[in-house]
Amino acid sequence: MTKNIIIVGAGPGGLATALRLKGQGYNVEIFESSNRVGGRMRGFQDGDYAFDTGPTILQLPNLYDDLFASAGLKREDYITFTRLEPYTKLRFWDDSTLELTTDFDKLKHQLAAFRQDLPAALDRWYAEETKKYDAGYEPYLSQPARSILGYMRLDELGTGLKFKPWETLYQHFWNAFQDERLVYALSYPAKYLGMHPTLSASVFSLIPYIEMAFGVWHPQGGFRALAQAIAQGFQDLGGKIHLNTPVKQVWLENRQVQGVELENGERIKADTVIVNADFAEAVQTLIPPAAQGKYTDNFFAKKQFSCSTFMLYLGIDKRYDNLPHHQLYLSEHIRKREKPFVNDSALDEIDPPFYVCNPTPVDASNAPEGHSTLYVLVPIPHTGHGVDWEKKAKSYRDLIINRLPLLGFEGVEQHIVSETCYTAENWQNDYSVYLGAVFNLSHNWLQLGPFRPPVRSEYIDKLYWVGGAVHPGSGLMTILESAKNTARFVEEDLVKR
Ligand SMILES: Cc1cc2nc3c(=O)[nH]c(=O)nc-3n(C[C@H](O)[C@H](O)[C@H](O)COP(=O)(O)OP(=O)(O)OC[C@H]3O[C@@H](n4cnc5c(N)ncnc54)[C@H](O)[C@@H]3O)c2cc1C
Repeated sequence: MTKNIIIVGAGPGGLATALRLKGQGYNVEIFESSNRVGGRMRGFQDGDYAFDTGPTILQLPNLYDDLFASAGLKREDYITFTRLEPYTKLRFWDDSTLELTTDFDKLKHQLAAFRQDLPAALDRWYAEETKKYDAGYEPYLSQPARSILGYMRLDELGTGLKFKPWETLYQHFWNAFQDERLVYALSYPAKYLGMHPTLSASVFSLIPYIEMAFGVWHPQGGFRALAQAIAQGFQDLGGKIHLNTPVKQVWLENRQVQGVELENGERIKADTVIVNADFAEAVQTLIPPAAQGKYTDNFFAKKQFSCSTFMLYLGIDKRYDNLPHHQLYLSEHIRKREKPFVNDSALDEIDPPFYVCNPTPVDASNAPEGHSTLYVLVPIPHTGHGVDWEKKAKSYRDLIINRLPLLGFEGVEQHIVSETCYTAENWQNDYSVYLGAVFNLSHNWLQLGPFRPPVRSEYIDKLYWVGGAVHPGSGLMTILESAKNTARFVEEDLVKR
């Protein structure tokens, strides 16, 4: 008989797992508390303007091709990807700029202006990183975590050492380039990990490599359309999505999954339950205390969580067609080593680094003709650090609006038609993200691989987790890998039954 699978949450991890399992012929239903699919990337509409809420950077489009193909579908039938070239422009604390591009000649020309030996250093780094990517991506990032001993096999120690686990991301890039602009330019993708490069594991040098080698992409219609596309593929195969239907708890008997209990009290039976809701939040709210195992309040109190983000979503009655899609301002403060700057434990109200996405020039679908949208992101402390946003939100908004000219956005204020602001509290309360730490458990070596919560529950039979908080980590690329592993485990375990 066909097995019934319930997925709690229609974030990227839930949707991707649902599509894979539906493609394998299971009865799959998703229960989602919000009125839209996509989780942190669900986006929203305000009047004539449409906004992406979370992700704006898409890497490795082949992962999406593979996801749709796993269910017998073609990704191109559901969503189109546009390559961005150059893909990111950075402005540094000293007013110099750099355009990251997959065109090596253009990139090296810019680096030579920084220092004559940098083009050769780039070649060396890239060659080294290609080897690391070959040795690391498929066998480690793409595979389920093993026990600690599983990583100590003699034949694999050589591979492990290539990743220099003793190095931080900062040390990795400093050793390669000895130029702080380049160090921060290449370690900025630590942004999707929510960590300062001096705290983040050096293995994440693979992210800038992947961007340089395979490009950065934009899904037409935005990331909200990408979420809708995966959901549509799932529904086309007969999958069901119940929106506005929060799950109250996972229904267990003797640590065996029976199904889920909805907020309205209804119980729905299932052979397997997969939870995509944010791990730290969900384990404490959806799992009865007796079955939580080590994941108690005390466990999470000792863990490090990523920063949160202050967001401005602006609909404006003008366009900035000559400005890039992705831009970052890397202020002097990004180089500071004092605690609040490194671990985002206090709000930087003077000179915070920030990021702006200007999507309309490559995707005019988000605003009326002649208008556009802007997405502004500033890393801020998570809610555990107690910023009083009721008092601070307005002045912080003004600070950031006044700093937009640093990235070429002159005169924005007079053109704002639609404005929405998020603080860490919105992420916590409206998106059910623990502490509003949008990039989940931090990505230091002690919270990665065998030290990160695994996809298959350690304590409950036929319960699985998928999403940014579990192995391998936050960000769409890794979450799609997590979804692949979750689907694989479910399949293996259901066949064994
Ligand atoms: C501002 C920002 C910028 C980002 N930029 C990037 C980027 O450029 N590139 C990138 O790759 N990643 C980026 N990320 C990270 C990426 O968005 C996240 O890693 C990803 O969304 C996490 O997905 P997830 O599958 O863990 O689930 P989530 O997105 O957390 O979704 C979980 C879902 O579960 C639902 N849910 C929760 N509780 C219940 C319940 N009780 N019952 C039913 N449903 C429930 C929620 O409503 C939600 O829909 C960004 C994130 C943010 C916030």
